[in-house]
Amino acid sequence: MSLTKNDFRAQFRCTHETCGKTYSLGQVIYSCERDGELLSVEHDLDQLKKISAKEWKDLFDSRYRSRAFPFTSGVWGKKEWVLPEIKVENIVTSGEGTSHLYDANRWAKDLDLGGLFIKQCGISHTGSFKDLGMTVLVSQVKQMIADGVPIDAVACASTGDTSAALASYAAKAGIPSIIFLPANKVSTAQLIQPVSNGALVLALDTDFDGCMAIVKQVTREKSIYLANSMNSLRIEGQKTIAIEITQQLNWNVPDWIVIPGGNLGNVSALGMGFEMMKELGLIDRLPRILLAQAKNASPLYDSFQSGFANFKSVTAQKTLASAIQIGDPVSVKKAIRILKKFDGIVEVATEEELSDAAARGDLYGLYNDPHTGVALAAMLKAKERGDIKKGDQVVVISTANGLKFTEFKVNYHERKIPGTDEKLSNSIISCPAELGSVMEILGKKLNHYK
Ligand SMILES: *Cc1c(COP(=O)(O)O)cnc(C)c1O
Ligand SMILES: [Zn+2]
Repeated sequence: MSLTKNDFRAQFRCTHETCGKTYSLGQVIYSCERDGELLSVEHDLDQLKKISAKEWKDLFDSRYRSRAFPFTSGVWGKKEWVLPEIKVENIVTSGEGTSHLYDANRWAKDLDLGGLFIKQCGISHTGSFKDLGMTVLVSQVKQMIADGVPIDAVACASTGDTSAALASYAAKAGIPSIIFLPANKVSTAQLIQPVSNGALVLALDTDFDGCMAIVKQVTREKSIYLANSMNSLRIEGQKTIAIEITQQLNWNVPDWIVIPGGNLGNVSALGMGFEMMKELGLIDRLPRILLAQAKNASPLYDSFQSGFANFKSVTAQKTLASAIQIGDPVSVKKAIRILKKFDGIVEVATEEELSDAAARGDLYGLYNDPHTGVALAAMLKAKERGDIKKGDQVVVISTANGLKFTEFKVNYHERKIPGTDEKLSNSIISCPAELGSVMEILGKKLNHYK
């Protein structure tokens, strides 16, 4: 079978075990008409299996960081597994994906790990992994508009990064975007991104969960298309994180993947990427997953204590990891299914723990945002407790670029975050512009470090 002859197909399928109703990807729909459950994108695996695992690997490797559109994007390098039927001219990409797998080898040695890699998903056009899902969603919207579906605008509720991604990709495609943000709960850098991209930005006097409730109602009007991760098109792009990590490890599966979670779309996507690779024979085992939550917004951690038996949403408390300040995660059922299948565990990080872990990682050359701090803190706790073992190979998903969180970094090093570890903070030393004074300080400080 030839790859150029497009025999690959995908559709929406209801995630309810006994329902399974299907819908076309060209339909404006986010949850099942019959039972209200979320949908997921289902691929025709029998067709995909006609290409051998080795051929898929060779194909994906040949496209990696390619100069040929649309394979300039890491997501679209896996086009047949993402949105096989989209017309190439409708793809809206900003070169997302193929982010660096940072080898924190010195830290791995200090922790007695077999390897510690940080997947730098925040090194991306708008500075977070949300770009990976948004390229797929906005491309599909462009395809639908080209097919005559009456869509006037795209809309989302956001804790910051989703809105930045949506506003940028929509502006690239020339589609109006509407953003609902919780007032005073996102960083200045995150807030100014959709403003700059010309989105209609509404700050609502509520939290993320409140914004989500509003956008769900607004998008009942089918001409306004919902871009939150309950729309499973987003998951399709984010799924490629799993494939890229494996590819970057020469198609080997790590022992652990650590990922911060809020609305729990990304952990669902990660799991689905590994499931698809296993189904198609590219890998023969699954990694374990450690889902990390901020202690102030940890409903899944609570449910994990009872083996995920009873999940209860909470009112999320304020956390420096503002993008995961979510108490009522939309994708919780998908995430629990994945965590059970991947022998997953859930860990929490306090404000001090996430701040210190981010700073500790920075001393190995990283520049961590608070969400990656949550993941790193959870990794350290799981290692301490013995869940992550000596010699294990661990990949931590970094979800955003530290440059979006300058206030967090400044406050940490100015010792304005209570309870953090003084030894990890660093300060600027004022000094007269004169050699004697400089040498005096160097003498003191360099001795100090011996
Ligand atoms: C969106 C986001 C998350 C959480 O992802 P979910 O899919 O909502 O669990 C984590 N970190 C950052 C920086 C984000 O923007
Ligand atoms: Zn259904």
